[in-house]
Amino acid sequence: MKADIVTIFPDFFRGPLDYGITRRATEMGLVEIKVYDLREFTHDRHRTVDDRPFGGGEGMVLKPEPIFDCLEAMQLAPREQRLAGTVKESVVVLSAQGKRFTQIVASELAALERIVLICGRYEGVDERVSDFLADRELSIGDYVLSGGELGAAVIIEAVARLLPGALGNEASTRQESFTSHVNVEQTDQPDSTCGSGGLLDYPHYTRPAEFRGMAVPEVLLNGNHLEIRRWRREQALKKTLRNRPDLIEAVELGEQDEVILGRIKRNRS
Ligand code: SAH
Repeated sequence: MKADIVTIFPDFFRGPLDYGITRRATEMGLVEIKVYDLREFTHDRHRTVDDRPFGGGEGMVLKPEPIFDCLEAMQLAPREQRLAGTVKESVVVLSAQGKRFTQIVASELAALERIVLICGRYEGVDERVSDFLADRELSIGDYVLSGGELGAAVIIEAVARLLPGALGNEASTRQESFTSHVNVEQTDQPDSTCGSGGLLDYPHYTRPAEFRGMAVPEVLLNGNHLEIRRWRREQALKKTLRNRPDLIEAVELGEQDEVILGRIKRNRS
């Protein structure tokens, strides 16, 4: 996959994308990240990328011309084809007003061959970029950042680890928080048992089994994989109920889950 970032701060990306799985995905050639300096696409002496907002008001707005020029230099497929899904390319504007970036959107993007991420700054980007050039606006959460760069890094990291081969152990993405496509299999294999099914992940522990008087839950030490699977499912339900009750609504729960959930709720009240 190609990931192209458009930014006025190209140096920002030295670092965040050079570690861990994202770095490995790059080294393995699974993702090719290219950073475009928006100022390279200006034509005036001052390399101006922003201007005052029409209609008045605070701050500055990123001008459309350099962004259009930059994307034209990328030679993407026509927007109509991108929007129709006949080509596997998508142009994203990072925006607090965008649709929420979720694990589901991450897997949609991971299926593409090329994503372009346009990072706003100041008061934002001239709206004609969203209306006529980009395919979608994405927000990484309900808060306002000062620029789209962190959002672009978040999206690339979330997407890169979903690319086949990036993680080494394919099973690990299947079990993570929000992963809604998994069904919970009845198996005694510890590494394929607890697909979170749209819930938050279950808690993880490692050695030592006892640390400063804090013990690891006994059930994890007894080697009974069926019990471990059940316990993890219960913990995932518990944590989701506590931290993200909104997710429970969206998840298809099995009969056993309903029983566990009933028990958790009774114990809480
Ligand atoms: N005036 C805008 C905020 C501009 S912040 C508003 O109120 O919506 C400047 C830039 O930061 C935006 O253009 C966008 O690219 C980025 N940004 C801010 N918050 C973001 C978020 N939650 N998700 C993604 N990008 C964000």
